Amino acid sequence: MTTSWHEIPRRRGGLLDVAVVGGGMAGATAALALARDGFDVALVDTRPPASWSAADDIDLRVVGLAPSSIRLLEAMGVWSRIRDARASAYERMVVWDAENGATIHFDAADEGRDVLGYIVENHLVQATLWQALDAAGVRRVVPGEVVGCETHDDHARLALADGQALSARLVVAADGVDSPLRALAGIGTHGRDYGQRGVVAHVETTLPHRRTAWQRFLPTGPLALLPLSDGRCSIVWSLPDAEAERILALDDDAFRDALGVASDFRLGPIGAVTRRVSFPLRLKLADRYQSGRIVLLGDAAHTVHPLAGQGVNLGLRDVAELRDTLVAAREAGRDIAAPHVLRRYARRRRSADGLDAWSFDALGRVYAWQAPPLVAVRGLGIRLLDGLAPLKRQLMRHAAGG
Ligand SMILES: Cc1cc2nc3c(=O)[nH]c(=O)nc-3n(C[C@H](O)[C@H](O)[C@H](O)COP(=O)(O)OP(=O)(O)OC[C@H]3O[C@@H](n4cnc5c(N)ncnc54)[C@H](O)[C@@H]3O)c2cc1C
Repeated sequence: MTTSWHEIPRRRGGLLDVAVVGGGMAGATAALALARDGFDVALVDTRPPASWSAADDIDLRVVGLAPSSIRLLEAMGVWSRIRDARASAYERMVVWDAENGATIHFDAADEGRDVLGYIVENHLVQATLWQALDAAGVRRVVPGEVVGCETHDDHARLALADGQALSARLVVAADGVDSPLRALAGIGTHGRDYGQRGVVAHVETTLPHRRTAWQRFLPTGPLALLPLSDGRCSIVWSLPDAEAERILALDDDAFRDALGVASDFRLGPIGAVTRRVSFPLRLKLADRYQSGRIVLLGDAAHTVHPLAGQGVNLGLRDVAELRDTLVAAREAGRDIAAPHVLRRYARRRRSADGLDAWSFDALGRVYAWQAPPLVAVRGLGIRLLDGLAPLKRQLMRHAAGG
């Protein structure tokens, strides 16, 4: 198939260790982590990341980074640059039920931590990771669109749209939720379309956010208000498709009113708002995380509902596991992409990600109960849980990634 493709010349001679396809947060972290561990790595993406500047307004695409993700970014020497550029720590989380008022509180201090996590812009993290690639010796193949892939005994070969080819012992598919490489590898997916969209915007609130992540569960879906470093909140408002379309079409005044009501005015009336965008919400899990010399990670492997704010964090846990697996294989003198080596990574991450993804799904379903007896049972359960400090600590430790 790819005999007419021209192999991209190798810088060091021999076979490349790892080709990472997709330079989003998960793929760029994987490329950097593996290169810093001494692997010979190339990163392929159709485009470079969007530039980031402190002079620009805070980008609408933000994520909550858990302590496990921060530890990984710290170990790669990029976290302090991200934090100093623009990041917002949150110390508490308050989650409440619109139907019965039952509330659960999480406080970093209860777990002996300073913070529960940080809200950061996706573009800032990605741009900082990409800046570090050259120093780590990662070869960038950009623009590079993968259109074919074949596996051989000791390597996999990627065909690019421009007629070039790239061979490596291991190929990492980190090319996002619709992963073309996952399809090329013949790996299917399962899950469900929530029939919902996440409406995202930054808003001013009358009362301060108090470095707290607020989340209200409504019958239509959760509304999160996440603290930003400039005092505003970033909202992620999950709504049925038609309702999301209606909310997106409102003028600013009507939007402010609707958001104030939806947030129960917990932070007072809503002030100035930015433009609004929305994303489809899906649960999508790859049937397998490995095929031959290809492994999946990040959204290519799993896409989850944003209600737990864990999408990127799961992807970065995949990266940490893959790095540990490959380093252990190299130290044992094994082929880093031997099937039994990759199976260890695939088995561990697929079960951990699957468990989390279905737990978030179950949580969403429980909060969607509307029959009065079930609402009462849910309220009782939440109030009980809020009083059970050891169980709450366990939940916080799990969300923090250990
Ligand atoms: C509304 C919303 C709120 C969210 N909130 C949170 C949160 O609070 N916390 C959290 O952890 N997560 C959150 N997430 C999830 C998070 O944004 C994603 O999990 C994460 O960005 C996925 O990163 P990734 O690197 O796996 O994929 P992507 O960021 O999608 O990157 C994929 C890369 O692959 C490249 N690519 C695609 N096709 C090809 C090809 N053929 N060849 C070469 N390159 C290719 C693309 O150009 C892109 O750069 C949220 C998501 C949504 C929708």
